[in-house]
Amino acid sequence: MTMEPRTPVPVTSAQPAAEVVVAPLVVIGAGLAGWTTVREFRKLDTATPVVVVTADSGDFYAKPSLSNAMAQKRAPHQMVTTPAAKMAETLNVTLLAFSTVQAIETKSRTLTLRSPHGVQTLRFGRLVLATGAQPIRAPLQGKAAERVRSVNSLDDFALFHKELQGASAAPGQDGLPKPQTVLVIGAGLIGCEFANDLVLGGHSVQVVDPSTRPLASLLPEQAGLQLKDALQALGVHWHFGTTVRTVDEAPDGRLDVSLANGSVLRVDTVLSAIGLRAQTDLASAAGIACERGIVVDAQLQTSVDGVYALGDGAQYASAGARTLPFVMPIMGAAKALAATLAGTPTDLVFPLMPVSIKTPALPIVVCAPHPQTAGGWVADGSGETGAWRFLDDQGVQRGFVLTGKSGARRMELAQETVLQAAP
Ligand SMILES: Cc1cc2nc3c(=O)[nH]c(=O)nc-3n(C[C@H](O)[C@H](O)[C@H](O)COP(=O)(O)OP(=O)(O)OC[C@H]3O[C@@H](n4cnc5c(N)ncnc54)[C@H](O)[C@@H]3O)c2cc1C
Repeated sequence: MTMEPRTPVPVTSAQPAAEVVVAPLVVIGAGLAGWTTVREFRKLDTATPVVVVTADSGDFYAKPSLSNAMAQKRAPHQMVTTPAAKMAETLNVTLLAFSTVQAIETKSRTLTLRSPHGVQTLRFGRLVLATGAQPIRAPLQGKAAERVRSVNSLDDFALFHKELQGASAAPGQDGLPKPQTVLVIGAGLIGCEFANDLVLGGHSVQVVDPSTRPLASLLPEQAGLQLKDALQALGVHWHFGTTVRTVDEAPDGRLDVSLANGSVLRVDTVLSAIGLRAQTDLASAAGIACERGIVVDAQLQTSVDGVYALGDGAQYASAGARTLPFVMPIMGAAKALAATLAGTPTDLVFPLMPVSIKTPALPIVVCAPHPQTAGGWVADGSGETGAWRFLDDQGVQRGFVLTGKSGARRMELAQETVLQAAP
């Protein structure tokens, strides 16, 4: 879905003052954070002009469904739940799609943006940075290293999906991707979800990770081993304790991937899933304080008055200075920010937010403690029950993990967990 950008409300300083009505609330980013903030704001304020500026089309889609689309045989165009034009109309906003903000000038409260129509200046009253995160690129050698994909947007997914269909080969009779051999770099959350989904989609999957088991930094050892076995039983080939060194084009046009342990794997596609880094370049260049993400206080305001941030790009004071690149934190943050923007200053307080890992081979629910919490995982019974509690040094439960059928105990373990923003 494409959208012709409409002319933004008040533009350059060359405009006569009389034309400047009210400097709008400008939101940069049309992902879950950007759109949810606007939706929540419009429930409280229908009058203030709102402009959404986004580098992509602005179409609304559920990003989590990118890592379970293959099993459901969904093509990229089927993932859009609400086209951009409909979002803009329903929420009464001016949408500047395919427009990349290149600079923020906080003193004059203007943005410089590049769109298919050229470079424009846009004035803002208040500004929301909902610019998300970027995939971390592994430092790979080899002449075909640039053919390594990562998926953090619908556009990325469309490219990956096309590649799975085989660039030169015609798609299968049903128009769906033909089976391919895919190498996934990284056995973290996104890597495991894609591995499971690709296998269910009929592909052959290999996973490379330097640790000894999947989700090593998130799960207790036994839970990680359960997931390893479950995905292996489905057909996933693991390469633990090693890393990818080089990616080169093979004589047949496929890819030869050499690992640090000396193995060479011939595959069709390589998907890198080694993590995300908050997008901070734009804010940082504007003098807005950034650390692991754009630093925001309890009311989601950055170090600059009237400039706010949330979503994958934000580092939340309300979460003990952590980034939280998940859906539930965005929903809470958008609600609190909308209230503040509509005139009721509201502190963001995160509830307990367990995450469901979409690995149907072994569904997992994780409620992770703050990473600096001293303590350890303790299994309920032998661990075969599929339940683990994270107990801190005082014996207080600060998190839990449930695998398989034990996921049904989610409410019970959540009630027994004592929330702590920071240790
Ligand atoms: C494959 C996958 C599966 C996931 N599964 C789950 C799950 O099961 N559960 C869960 O809780 N979370 C999951 N997540 C995480 C969740 O999807 C994200 O936390 C959430 O979608 C992030 O939304 P966002 O709006 O902050 O960022 P994004 O969706 O990345 O949006 C950023 C927006 O900013 C725009 N932008 C950036 N820079 C500029 C610029 N300079 N100018 C203009 N526009 C700009 C982009 O175009 C985009 O519109 C998953 C993530 C991935 C990648």
